[in-house]
Amino acid sequence: MLFEPQRYRIEDQPHRPFVDPPEIREMLAAAASPTLDRVREVIGRALDRRRLTMQEVAVLLNADRPEAVAEIMEAAHRLKKEVYGDRIVIFAPLYIGNKCVNNCAYCGFRASNRHAVRRTLTDAEIVDEVRALERTGQKRLILVYGEHPLYDAAYIAHTVRTTYATQQGGDQIRRVNINAAPFDVEGFRTIREAGIGTYQIFQETYDPEVYRRYHLGGRKTDYDWRLTAMDRAMEAGIDDVGLGVLFGLGDWRFEVMALVRHTNHLEACYGVGPHTISFPRIRRASDLSLDGLDLIGDDEFVRLVAILRLAVPYTGLILTARETAALRDRLIRYGISQIDAGTRLEIGGYSAAEQEQDLHKEQFELMDGRSLAEVVSELIDSGYIPSFCTACYRKGRTGEHFMEFSTKGFIKRFCTPNALLTFAEYLEDYATPAVWEKGWALIEAEAARTDDPALAERLARIRRGERDILF
Ligand code: SAM
Ligand code: SF4
Repeated sequence: MLFEPQRYRIEDQPHRPFVDPPEIREMLAAAASPTLDRVREVIGRALDRRRLTMQEVAVLLNADRPEAVAEIMEAAHRLKKEVYGDRIVIFAPLYIGNKCVNNCAYCGFRASNRHAVRRTLTDAEIVDEVRALERTGQKRLILVYGEHPLYDAAYIAHTVRTTYATQQGGDQIRRVNINAAPFDVEGFRTIREAGIGTYQIFQETYDPEVYRRYHLGGRKTDYDWRLTAMDRAMEAGIDDVGLGVLFGLGDWRFEVMALVRHTNHLEACYGVGPHTISFPRIRRASDLSLDGLDLIGDDEFVRLVAILRLAVPYTGLILTARETAALRDRLIRYGISQIDAGTRLEIGGYSAAEQEQDLHKEQFELMDGRSLAEVVSELIDSGYIPSFCTACYRKGRTGEHFMEFSTKGFIKRFCTPNALLTFAEYLEDYATPAVWEKGWALIEAEAARTDDPALAERLARIRRGERDILF
């Protein structure tokens, strides 16, 4: 059974806060210093594709001995390969505006930062940015906004529509996700009607004490309003939601437990878990000192991703260009299913002639400045299929990660062929001859393995110039 509802001290009810910090701490303490046998037992359940209980997740989080960590990593790698295959979904963020009324101590956009250069794209500038992104081959965007009265639901819906409407032949954005401040149910309805894919918002920290310390002004000081944002989104009919924690604020083990708790809350109340989970780590930002933060090292970060992979196997895991190319390559093995590529954080940065990092114009420091073309080329070299697939969303198959996981043959029937078709389009329209060659070699090897005549026929149609063919 995929959902095994657990009982908690705070019962799950729609629109009601559900995080109970003492309960999470007790679970972590009760699982301290687990034996290797116990760790193996939990790993075994995950590999049997059972959803882990929070007590079991606590066992993995407390498994500090090197051999236990190594087994967790190996299991995460195996599960990822079995569940997702070798696809990596690619997207890019598009910053629409950085005006902000909040004072989040860690963010370059915070209201009190007088050095931040504030800018909101005009409609014409949005079109320029989207065109610039399309010309590189992007098909999936996430639009990002500060929190400001200007960026209300109607405005956000308008920017989503503007993005979809910006097309030139095969160059088109086919899925627009958003990362924006929480709305009421009515606001979420307005946004849903514009056709968004995923609504993403990060709790930043699930520890209310830590939350209070870092959120020093504006609407975002209200922990519960943010915590229940997904409930309102769900009620408004947005059932693709993306959770996240900003790692570096609170204790990482606590935060992972809380992410699983949030997942369980959504499953209990709405029968569907989050579409994705993100785990940004704090980076340098304009006028930000990293002193006093609870920064998390690379090795612990990799463990955290592996544990999440085992804990929520049907949720997509997103790793952004806040991390270096080397760490991103390492983490793809252990569970990442989506990455951004060719990212520019400066507002208007995609269509600007010069590309220079200036922290006062960006939200935080970018660590992976590779272009989309470079990322695609390197993924091919590592045997991964870059996927620009948007099929499930457009065919009305929402909650697709859940289906991938639960429906026998789903990946073989839909995900792999759609990844290959969108990758083929990319190669035909945007790749250099060298990348085209090695990319097609990878497609042919994969297609031969699937041995599906319908796929071969569609790939041939793409070569002849047809576009946007989906399973
Ligand atoms: N303003 C909206 C909000 O706060 O929900 C939109 C999100 S903000 C533009 C995107 C995310 O960036 C935040 O939720 C936060 O997790 C992350 N972020 C903020 N400051 C950061 C920093 N210094 N380093 C890395 N990520 C950061
Ligand atoms: Fe504003 Fe979001 Fe930055 Fe907070 S994280 S200051 S709400 S843009």
